[in-house]
Amino acid sequence: MHAHTFQNVNPADSDDIIGLFPISNDDEVHAAVLAASTAFISWSKMPAPKRGDILRKAGDIFTRRKEELSAIMTREMGKPLFETLGDIQEAIDTAYYAATETRRLFGYTAPSEMDNKMNLSFRTPIGVCGIITAWNFPIAVPSWKILPALACGNTVVFKPSEDSPHSAHIFAEILEEAGLPAGVFNVVYGAGSTGSALVEHPSVKLIGFTGSTFTGKKIAERCGALNKKCSLEMGGKNAQIVMPDANIDLALDGVLWGAFGTTGQRCTATSRLILHKDIYDSFINALITKTTQIKLGNGSHPQTQMGPVINAKQLEKIQHYVAIARSEGATCVIGGDVEISGDCAKGNFYKPTIFIDVTPDMTIFKEEIFGPVLAVTKANSLDHAIKLANNCDYGLSSSLFTGNVDAAFRAIRDIEAGITYINAPTIGAEAHMPFGGIKGTGNGHREGGWTAFEIFTEWKTVYVDYSGSLQRAQIDNY
Ligand code: NAD
Repeated sequence: MHAHTFQNVNPADSDDIIGLFPISNDDEVHAAVLAASTAFISWSKMPAPKRGDILRKAGDIFTRRKEELSAIMTREMGKPLFETLGDIQEAIDTAYYAATETRRLFGYTAPSEMDNKMNLSFRTPIGVCGIITAWNFPIAVPSWKILPALACGNTVVFKPSEDSPHSAHIFAEILEEAGLPAGVFNVVYGAGSTGSALVEHPSVKLIGFTGSTFTGKKIAERCGALNKKCSLEMGGKNAQIVMPDANIDLALDGVLWGAFGTTGQRCTATSRLILHKDIYDSFINALITKTTQIKLGNGSHPQTQMGPVINAKQLEKIQHYVAIARSEGATCVIGGDVEISGDCAKGNFYKPTIFIDVTPDMTIFKEEIFGPVLAVTKANSLDHAIKLANNCDYGLSSSLFTGNVDAAFRAIRDIEAGITYINAPTIGAEAHMPFGGIKGTGNGHREGGWTAFEIFTEWKTVYVDYSGSLQRAQIDNY
């Protein structure tokens, strides 16, 4: 057995120990990076469409193992089965997308400014990529990074969250079965110190990170000092705006799914609801009624709509924020406590919680909680609502419910966020579209679709001079 291990426990049932996983030390991280560096030599030279064939096969295996993997993921991180099935579907979509992209890793050609000279540019792989992720999308989020990285000819060392090592293990099994050569994809396990060893390793050329803004900024500092490429997908404090002319039933369904889907543990979760004053009271009343109907429980039971939070530490963090919200004068209209009855007795359950009369100076308006806690604020107008939405350090997702097309286009233009939904909740990204945020959420990169391929490639520019003479650019032609 490995000298140092950590326990993986079902967040819905503390008696259910999933297994012991190794804490990879510096030597093991080094061995994984060495394997990836060695494998890079041949993998990077394999014709890209052949790499695509392996990724397509991985998509087929994810499809075959979808139900089984969904049960494993629900047991490991708690969200209900219908959500974990969606998580895997995102990996399937990403695998097939990445496979087709290997036939389309386009570069640019442009005319030369000189006679008898040709200018071209090519995408080239970067080398060993270190991938570090959070636990809330244990298969989807790693797939967004790993599959495009591999398609581009890079090799990977993956450090999954310490809260979802089992899903990562299955991810590796699937890539192996798909025919990925040894050393192209490697997994190291553990918490921050294992991730840090990966960041520090001189042969790791790129870090792709998903997690909190706190950790992401620390990683970015180190990558800056070490001159490594670094893409960051970090926290959010996403707002849904509802105007009086909206389809109110749709807006209610939207906020329920946005705020309490995945137990509020999505970077894109709706954690702020901004209601126009004309519908403020009626909307809140309807929302409370609907929230009481949410079925909390073990995600592996088919009737469960909302599962546990990931661990005891996160449960404490939620309690801490709820206490602050109360002390700062927000009004809790539903929830506001842990759930310990029935099915929930042995897990980390928190009731769906709504605070109203939240003002921009309050902590729960500003800080990411990452739990089922919704902060409701009143707006006087669309402009006021957009101003409130933008009054935030993060800039990931946003949403507006309205029946007015002019309002929709103004919001699309004026809301400061990487993603804006019209008449849909703040969650629901599709795998082939750019994903990411501005302000405290990101550092200028986007995952998803074609934009991920920008992260995982370098450019090689080639000039071919067939004039037979020395042509000095900018000098001989002007
Ligand atoms: P976290 O920042 O605590 O951990 C994320 C990962 O970083 C884990 O694998 C962790 O082990 C590792 N890590 C921690 N310290 C490290 C260090 N010093 N060096 C290297 N690696 C280190 O985040 P979390 O609590 O696991 O996840 C929740 C956060 O993730 C939330 O803020 C959420 O918004 C964010 N998130 C963002 C996105 C997105 O796409 N923007 C998606 C999912 C989650």
